[in-house]
Amino acid sequence: RGIITPHAQRQDEVIDRAIRPTSLDDYIGQPKVREQMEIFIHAAKTRGEALDHTLIFGPPGLGKTTLANIIAREMEGELKSTSGPVLEKAGDLAALLTNLEAGDVLFIDEIHRLSPVIEEILYPAMEDYQLDIVIGEGPGARSIKLDLPPFTLVAATTRAGLLTSPLRDRFGIVQRLEFYNVADLSYIVSRSARLLNVPMEDEGALEIARRARGTPRIANRLLRRVRDYAEVKGNGVITGSVANAALNMLDVDQHGFDNLDRRYLLALMEKFNGGPAGVEALAAAIAEDSGTLEDVVEPYLIQQGMVMRTARGRIATPHAYLRFGLTMPESLKT
Ligand code: ADP
Repeated sequence: RGIITPHAQRQDEVIDRAIRPTSLDDYIGQPKVREQMEIFIHAAKTRGEALDHTLIFGPPGLGKTTLANIIAREMEGELKSTSGPVLEKAGDLAALLTNLEAGDVLFIDEIHRLSPVIEEILYPAMEDYQLDIVIGEGPGARSIKLDLPPFTLVAATTRAGLLTSPLRDRFGIVQRLEFYNVADLSYIVSRSARLLNVPMEDEGALEIARRARGTPRIANRLLRRVRDYAEVKGNGVITGSVANAALNMLDVDQHGFDNLDRRYLLALMEKFNGGPAGVEALAAAIAEDSGTLEDVVEPYLIQQGMVMRTARGRIATPHAYLRFGLTMPESLKT
C-alpha cells in the first residue's frame, strides 16, 4: 500500500527512535487518554503499586506501542515486549514472566492473536501474580506454581471485538485511541521536524497533516519524503507549496485517503449502489481481507463521515458521493 500504509515499515524504525515521544507530556492529542493515564499512573506510584493491567485499542499507527513505552517509563519500570503470534509455547510466556521485576511492564502487541493455551496461563498471572504451568508430559508431568512480582500487562490490539471476554475483563484500564485531527498531526510533524533539524514552515506542517489519514505514523513518514523533495528540488525548507508539490508527486490524496480507501468507497458506490452491503461482500469485491477492512479502512472512513455502519450493512454517505463527484441513487436519499 506504499507510502500511506498505516503499518510500520522497516525504514520507519530508525527515525522513529529519534522522534518517538517518551513522556506523557510529549504524547500529543488523545486528551482523554492522556488525562486518565496521568491520574492512574500518579495514583499507582503514590501507593507504591503496579499500575493496573491496561488494554489499548485502535487502528495501526495511532500510538499504542508508544503509549506502552511511556507507561513503563513513567512507572520507572522496564518494558519487555512481545506479541500474540510470537508467543507459541507456554514456555515462551513463562520465560518472559519469570524475568519480570516489580513494576515492570510486559507489552503484548496483537493480543487478539494469542493462543488459548497461552491465554489460560495469563489469567492467574494477571489476577494473582501467579504462574501455573505444567512441566513435562505423560505420567511424569507435574504442575508448578511460582509467585510473580507485581507487574503491569499492557496489551494492544486493533480488534477489541476479537478478545475473549474473560481476557478483556482482566484489564482494569481500557483505552481507545482515536484518529488525530489536523491540528494535532501538524503539531506532531512540527515536533518531529525540529528533532530531525528539518526547517519547516507552519503551512508545510499543515499540508502534511491534512494528508496523513489521521495517523501519526503516516504523518512522520510523509515528513521524511517531503524533506527529500525539499532538499533536492528546493533549498531544504518545507514550505506549504513545497509540501504540496512533493505530496502531489507522491500521489498522496488531498484528503489523506489511500488506494484501499478509494477502492472500498468506489466499490460500495458503484458495485453495491451505495449499500447496504456486508463487509464480506465488499471484501470479496475488492479482493481484500475483511479483517483489514474492519481494522484499518472502515474506522477512518466512518470517522470521516464517508461510510455508515448499520445493522443491514455499510452505506455510503452523501459526503462520499460528493467527494467522488458521483450521483447518489434515489434509494439512498431518504
Ligand atoms: P501503533 O503501535 O498504534 O501501531 P506506534 O506507537 O508505533 O503505533 O506509533 C507510530 C509512530 O507515530 C510512533 O513511532 C511515534 O513516532 C508517532 N506517534 C504515535 N502517537 C503519537 C503521539 N500521541 N504524539 C506524537 N507522536 C506519536
